[in-house]
Amino acid sequence: GGRRYTFHSPELDTWSHDRLSLESALRHGLVKGEFEVFYQPQINLASGNLTGLESLIRWHRPGSGLVQPEAFIPAAEASGIIHGLGDWAIIEAMEQLARWSREGLATVPVAINLSARQCADTSIVDTLRKGLADSGLAPSLLKVELTESTAMRDAGLAADLLQDIHGLGFSIALDDFGTGHSSLALLQRLSISELKIDQRFVNGIDDNGNDAAIVRGAIALAHGLDMRVVAEGVETQSQLRFLSEHGCDAAQGYLFAQPLPADEARNWLSGPPPH
Ligand code: C2E
Ligand code: CA
Ligand code: CA
Ligand code: CA
Repeated sequence: GGRRYTFHSPELDTWSHDRLSLESALRHGLVKGEFEVFYQPQINLASGNLTGLESLIRWHRPGSGLVQPEAFIPAAEASGIIHGLGDWAIIEAMEQLARWSREGLATVPVAINLSARQCADTSIVDTLRKGLADSGLAPSLLKVELTESTAMRDAGLAADLLQDIHGLGFSIALDDFGTGHSSLALLQRLSISELKIDQRFVNGIDDNGNDAAIVRGAIALAHGLDMRVVAEGVETQSQLRFLSEHGCDAAQGYLFAQPLPADEARNWLSGPPPH
């Protein structure tokens, strides 16, 4: 056809080939229904009861087994597939919660993760609004999580977006707190009701004095701003004891449960939690 210039380097060929094949596998996977939403229980530390579920996407990639998000979310972000994939995950989580609710189970709020690129596109608000209307769920049963770095990347944009999402009745959690250089003044102006302490600090509670101090500080900061605080990645009894003693509101982690397929997460809803 027309004139065009092309580069030739073996590394570039391999790189772009791998990337293109991952992208096309993601596109096909979305059409063919290869994705599944898992749910990780969150526990209220004062009562020991289930207080929420975080939805986390998984990919049953043919020939690769169950693929974790680190292996495909970056490519989905870079290619823009995250919009379709993220919308699918949002609707799926809402439909699941509505099914549980129709079964008469005692439902708890479900949190949905939003990536930076999803937050940069205002159509995310339309997806959330439509999901809410179609599922018939009470908005108080829904929460979005965005990372501290996403929120701080473009403060004005985040403030507008969060106001819109909050206006739908969703609550908002700031994910990976402690890793993203928050402006404390800005934190207060965003419609955030929950801080999630990043698992790297929780992980260091037992043997890193700085991490323990950061966790204590994050709990105090959250409560000072009238926010709830949730610890992520809790794996040991001693981390749990520290968090309880310092007034952390809730926790999630392998100590309680891994992210679970819907039919296993359901067991947490029907009766008292196994812990
Ligand atoms: P995240 O939102 O920070 O999710 C927490 C991650 O910690 C999850 O990884 C979870 O499985 C893992 N985790 C939970 N408890 C423990 C623990 O006790 N120890 C350790 N070491 N890890 C624990 P996962 O499921 O692999 O998800 C990774 C990231 O992918 C998430 O980080 C989130 O940023 C992103 N992601 C997952 N699902 C979605 C989605 O539906 N949409 C978007 N946009 N992003 C998603
Ligand atoms: Ca993982
Ligand atoms: Ca999260
Ligand atoms: Ca996190």
